[in-house]
Amino acid sequence: MSISTVFFITLETLNLSLRINTNINYQILFIMNTESCHCGLLSCKEVNTRDKDNKFTLQPLPYAENSLEPYISEKTVKFHYGKHLAAYIDNTNKLKAGTQFDDQPIHEIIKKASGGLFNNAAQVFNHYFYFEALHHSGAQAPRGKLSNLLEKNFGSFEDFKEKFTQAGTALFGSGWVWLVQEDDKLEIWPAPNAENPLKNGKYPLLTMDVWEHAYYLDTQNARAKYIENFWQIVNWEVVEKRVK
Ligand code: MN
Repeated sequence: MSISTVFFITLETLNLSLRINTNINYQILFIMNTESCHCGLLSCKEVNTRDKDNKFTLQPLPYAENSLEPYISEKTVKFHYGKHLAAYIDNTNKLKAGTQFDDQPIHEIIKKASGGLFNNAAQVFNHYFYFEALHHSGAQAPRGKLSNLLEKNFGSFEDFKEKFTQAGTALFGSGWVWLVQEDDKLEIWPAPNAENPLKNGKYPLLTMDVWEHAYYLDTQNARAKYIENFWQIVNWEVVEKRVK
């Protein structure tokens, strides 16, 4: 079967589902978007949309700016999402213009670029990935396959949280703590600055921003308190959907 035949059948299937049920169609689109990116970011397609000048634009936060309170304040979200992330997007647009990366999606730029373009594009991805999996009053623990994998790899969900917390507390300076997956193996992967698992052949499930700008307005120097708050607002349903 040729590639064009497969593509045609896929389009036809999608078209049929459009006519049958809009809910089913939405789910199919959702799966297609996620699988086509292979980066774990559920909003990959939206994040990679561009304006008429081929520039990435700041996508709307998937919840209200005050909805993470009291764990993360509206003020922090306004600065963190609205200013820091916006600046990383702006810098990425400037640095990619006129280069071989100009038409590449964020997750591909991360894999191949270096220097300032890597740093800024990785920070764009990292922040969307972080904010996508935050949510107030969601489930307090993962379920299903993710729950089983966490038990298998770390002993229990509580043991995983403790190890992840330790990694976040111990990380010197600015950086990110990631949970990454390779088949049935999960690993806690702390990384400095803008470092990203995709660059290192790893597949991300969850990240925690431990740059000071993520918490300084709320808990000042107390990173441990920020991490405690972080566990209250992880959106486990999102993390479960990222599992391969
Ligand atoms: Mn940040």
